[in-house]
Amino acid sequence: MVPYVYDFREGRREMADLLGGKGANLAEMTRLGLPVPPGFTVSTDACRAYLATGTEPPGLAAEVSRHLAAVEAAAGRRLGQRDDPLLLSVRSGARFSMPGMMETVLDIGLDDDSVLGLAKASGSDRFAWDSYRRLVQMFGSTVMGVDPALFARALALLKEEREAPDDTHLDANDLARLVETFKGIVLDETGEEFPQSPTDQLRRAILAVFRSWNGERARLYRRREHIGDDLGTAVTVQRMVFGNLGPDSGSGVAFTRDPATGRPGLYGDYLPDAQGEDVVAGIRNAMPLSELEQLDPRSYARLRGHMETLERHYRDLCDIEFTIERGTLWMLQTRVGKRTAEAAFTLAAQLTDEGLITADEALARVDGDGLARLMFPAFDTSAVGEPLAQGVPASPGAAVGAAVFDSAEAVRRAAAGERVVLVRQETTPDDLPGMIAAQAVLTSRGGKTSHAAVVARGMGKVCVCGADGLAVDTGARHFTTRTGAVVEEGTVLSVDGSSGAVYPGAVPLADSAVMRFLETSQRSAGVVTAVARALEHADTLRRLEVRANADTPEDAARARRFGAQGIGLCRTEHMFLGERRKLVERMILARDDAGREQALAALLPLQRQDFTDILEAMDGLPVTIRLLDPPLHEFLPDRTELAVHIAATEARGEQPDPHERELLDAVSRMHEDNPMLGLRGVRLGLVIPGLVAMQVRAVAEAVVARTRAGGTPRAEIMVPLVGAVEELRIERAEVERALAEVSDESGVPVRCPVGTMIELPRAALTAGRIAEEAEFFSFGTNDLTQTTWGFSRDDVEAAFFSAYLDKGVFPVSPFETLDRDGVGRLVRIAVTEGRAARPGLKIGVCGEHGGDPDSVHFFHTAGLDYVSCSPFRVPVARLEAGRAALPGTEGSDSR
Ligand code: ADP
Ligand code: MG
Ligand code: MG
Repeated sequence: MVPYVYDFREGRREMADLLGGKGANLAEMTRLGLPVPPGFTVSTDACRAYLATGTEPPGLAAEVSRHLAAVEAAAGRRLGQRDDPLLLSVRSGARFSMPGMMETVLDIGLDDDSVLGLAKASGSDRFAWDSYRRLVQMFGSTVMGVDPALFARALALLKEEREAPDDTHLDANDLARLVETFKGIVLDETGEEFPQSPTDQLRRAILAVFRSWNGERARLYRRREHIGDDLGTAVTVQRMVFGNLGPDSGSGVAFTRDPATGRPGLYGDYLPDAQGEDVVAGIRNAMPLSELEQLDPRSYARLRGHMETLERHYRDLCDIEFTIERGTLWMLQTRVGKRTAEAAFTLAAQLTDEGLITADEALARVDGDGLARLMFPAFDTSAVGEPLAQGVPASPGAAVGAAVFDSAEAVRRAAAGERVVLVRQETTPDDLPGMIAAQAVLTSRGGKTSHAAVVARGMGKVCVCGADGLAVDTGARHFTTRTGAVVEEGTVLSVDGSSGAVYPGAVPLADSAVMRFLETSQRSAGVVTAVARALEHADTLRRLEVRANADTPEDAARARRFGAQGIGLCRTEHMFLGERRKLVERMILARDDAGREQALAALLPLQRQDFTDILEAMDGLPVTIRLLDPPLHEFLPDRTELAVHIAATEARGEQPDPHERELLDAVSRMHEDNPMLGLRGVRLGLVIPGLVAMQVRAVAEAVVARTRAGGTPRAEIMVPLVGAVEELRIERAEVERALAEVSDESGVPVRCPVGTMIELPRAALTAGRIAEEAEFFSFGTNDLTQTTWGFSRDDVEAAFFSAYLDKGVFPVSPFETLDRDGVGRLVRIAVTEGRAARPGLKIGVCGEHGGDPDSVHFFHTAGLDYVSCSPFRVPVARLEAGRAALPGTEGSDSR
């Protein structure tokens, strides 16, 4: 039979699925020979069995007794032994650390008799009663469900009565009295005496940990973080060591390096004469770890040594919890420590230099999300004080503005030029105007998939969600913080969407050093060098090329500075806006070929200049130019506005402008119920004579101009929204004709590859046919996602995506991260069949997914040649393309 219980000496780090992170790492430290109090871990198997049946799995009690006997033998004391009791801690620990799980219960094994024995054996009455009151308090609240505030209040009352500034000023008598009070509270609240049987205490604590797996907060957290509900938690049972035995004892927490910056050194806090979480609970002022060096040099030196051992062994930043019992150091927990993005890059570089990890491992330990975070301006950390609130960092960036409590107020103040932060309990589609007007959105409910989070990310707006402890009172136009501070409308707040912190007042912003480096290529010190090294290594590894989506020479130039290897998507539609919209209007309204040609001829030189500038910025690199894609009425005035204007004119008894009437007719004629699926893309070229020829001529003449100027223009022409090879065949013939004409006229041979977007399911499914006419493919994954799911992005995201995410229809929006099962399948079919028809077919992607880390990994495994994304995402895509190519990750999902 598979055991349910493992001694620390039987486990190891790799067994975290079974032993939880905490249990596995305690076992690992034991194997390393570090001073870990003996103990054992009840596995997640036992938890799953318990949760499935609702009863203690058969055999578990016997296994626990057997392992307990071993701990007792090693200690030379027994649980419940009256003259010198063995005490235990019972600790929860799942595969992933998560809030909402049962808190650790310390000092299990004390009862009304053994507390006296403990006093005698330790020589300290005070210590014994302090331990007992802690047990009643922790067991009472976490296992028996008593409101912890009742215990806290009783303790506060006693301190007041005794005029004790903190708990160390209470003596043994006070604490003995407190135990009686606490036991009374337990009886009153539960109708049950505090259990006097130590084995009963142990058993109940273990089962309570199992049950806490399904606690409301834990479930909510797992749903938000996409952690499976079926993993279960382990329970670690361990001999107690005591930090509350007087001034030569204490408990502390430490990091092997600074988790904020990655700088080397020991970072942490220590609190003398304290147990458990006292050190981080703020009950007394903890001292920085450096002061322990004076207080207890021997323990400090040992601690340093153990931390070095751990760092060398884990080859990473570790965080630890320790306790000193009368000058003896005990290690109580370690894990690979959480860190900021800055620390992640800095550490990766440092550990490589120290020879602890390879450059490949260093690259594996950083990621594109972290890099993106470092590219935003951030609050100047030297200027921030205590946060007002802490929430889920839902959409990165830093923003400052005055708090407002509804959408209308946000819009009103923003229109008057004020910067505002929209504060809501949670947002709904009604809040959209306010979200658009605000610098940042702050909510007190919901997580990464809430409406506020999804919409804010879509808009690139700073967002902090689910700020715990904020009570938002929209009616009173204020919110109350956890500490009871009231923040009225108009108060200036600083919201950090990268860390989730909200600060009072306007915290100064510091430019991103990483952004400066990317713009100038000038390396400064610290994190910039670390980022540069990671990017360089990624560039040597990656197989995917990275291009940018850029429509202007400025964007093209920036993309190039950021390392883009060309333009994967140059949209021509913006070239038809502004002043030029009138020319488009003339073309649309033209009654005959001559009129249309005139209008097109006027557009030609303008477009040619645009292309010339872009080709110059990207000289020598490919520039994929997409022919006009959107429905033409997007270039005309709004139908309702026109109609209203004409009606109003007529109502005044005046004659409407005939041009306006003509326009209205045209707009009405061209009105579409569903323009996304209407006359757009390749369809435009097939029905509007001269449109394709004009655009291609503009491209070709730009190529000629650049060639004559001594440049190396590499324009490619891309046809959007093709569903059938016939469409492409017809359009391509027109393209080739226009290219040939310009070549003949100029005497400069213009050779532009002609390819197509794959953005309709039919295109993907008939890619073999389409490849006969296409010299390259580029997946338009935005439209491909819309058409595969039948989602109109603008309609669905704000309306019901948060509900879909909450209900788990998908774990992340398919517009953010490519849906591998559906859209991804179409991509694979098109790659396979396209290349079968045309070996060596160049294939890329130009949807926003090209800059999404998870999607980049997919495109790598799907065998694409390049990804193209917005200029700002180019460094992210470079990094992730390199990570996707790391040995050992080939073919695997990064999810
Ligand atoms: P968390 O999951 O919140 O980190 P832990 O199980 O680590 O909870 O317990 C919290 C604290 O309780 C530890 O940091 C340590 O100080 C204390 N603790 C746990 N087990 C023991 C023990 N066997 N002896 C002394 N203190 C302990
Ligand atoms: Mg801990
Ligand atoms: Mg498209």
